[in-house]
Amino acid sequence: MVSRRFAVKSVNLILLLTLFSLPMLGQARSTAKPKPRVVVVGVNGMELDVIRPLLLQGKMPNLASVIKKGAYGKLRTLSAPNCPRVYSTLFTSTKPEEHGVSGFIVGGITANTNMLKEEPIWSLLSKDGVTVGMANVPATFPVMPVNGYMISGMLTRGKNCEDGVLCAPKLSEVQGGEAVYPAPLKAELLKNVGDFYIDCERMPAAMDLKGHETEVIDAWLNKVQLIRDEQTKLFDYLLDHHPTEFTWLAQSCEDRAGHWLYPIAPYHAGYNPKINGVRPDAFPNQYIAFDKVLGAILKHIDDNTYVIIVSDHGIKPLREFEETDPHAHMDHEKTTPVIAKHDFADGDDVPGSFFAMGPGIKHDLRLMGFEASVYDLAPTILHIYGIEQPVQMRGHVLSEIFENSDKAIAQK
Ligand SMILES: [Zn+2]
Repeated sequence: MVSRRFAVKSVNLILLLTLFSLPMLGQARSTAKPKPRVVVVGVNGMELDVIRPLLLQGKMPNLASVIKKGAYGKLRTLSAPNCPRVYSTLFTSTKPEEHGVSGFIVGGITANTNMLKEEPIWSLLSKDGVTVGMANVPATFPVMPVNGYMISGMLTRGKNCEDGVLCAPKLSEVQGGEAVYPAPLKAELLKNVGDFYIDCERMPAAMDLKGHETEVIDAWLNKVQLIRDEQTKLFDYLLDHHPTEFTWLAQSCEDRAGHWLYPIAPYHAGYNPKINGVRPDAFPNQYIAFDKVLGAILKHIDDNTYVIIVSDHGIKPLREFEETDPHAHMDHEKTTPVIAKHDFADGDDVPGSFFAMGPGIKHDLRLMGFEASVYDLAPTILHIYGIEQPVQMRGHVLSEIFENSDKAIAQK
């Protein structure tokens, strides 16, 4: 059910968007004073314990450059965090019971944007005249009208992925809703980018792994890299051909790899040398590969652009309270032998992370403790555009990251 408040606003948005004709898709209006440019890069389940040694070894040079030029820290996440649940809080700065997307499956139905009961950031920005581009962002299917474009991500349904849960439909094989707004952009993408996978490959089942571990693991990792290459091409195309003032791009394969290929020690629960001894570097390598995606995005960034990298939660090996935790083994599909997860009842066990750089953002600042939370992203983005925070939003502007918050606000 869509709440009356948000439903009314949606109608207004659609009316407003009819004023923007397709030719100006993604084009900033030249008559107005330029609005700030913000690029958000979402990484599903980035684990600081894994990326820190990689940063120390110089294996994530692009993320290291953002850290040096900006502010970063842990991001307090929700209880029992998972992607749709946290992303919908990132979008709305409200609790799951308020925004309505409490998990992958809500009331027996795969989470989708029709369930969203609070107004998301893309709608607020669009109504204020900010051009918005979103691609591959989880929990954005079916896509909604924006002042720009939207291409859905995780939870998109399609052929061989009928329930939409953690599988990879191709753009041409999407079913049960639209994956691209505006509709004509779909043909343009198929022509110029190709028929890319939306979301990441499904994890292999235990029975498929048995006796073929190395072969199945390597084939899965190769598919993951193919998907990442396709998505990088998509991002590159969109940033080149449809630049928007606000852009949100996301990656999701890293988390998936962590669930069953986390480099655990033999004393961890679930250790299986036949699987976990094969490619112990598979999970760290996901972040080295992500860093290359980030490098491709940063090529489109100038000093006047804000870059925000956000992870919705971390991921950790199974814990001692697995037996009694009400959220134990609720992760994803239940067919893969998972050795790490994130939907622990205490979200502080698996914090997300936050990295920001841009005009007026402090350099080399580390946020200690849990100064930043998943509720704070939307208010901070609105602050950059000088848009007042709606009353329902529970987070606060991360003013501590700005040199002088007045300078960081756009003059409207
Ligand atoms: Zn996960």
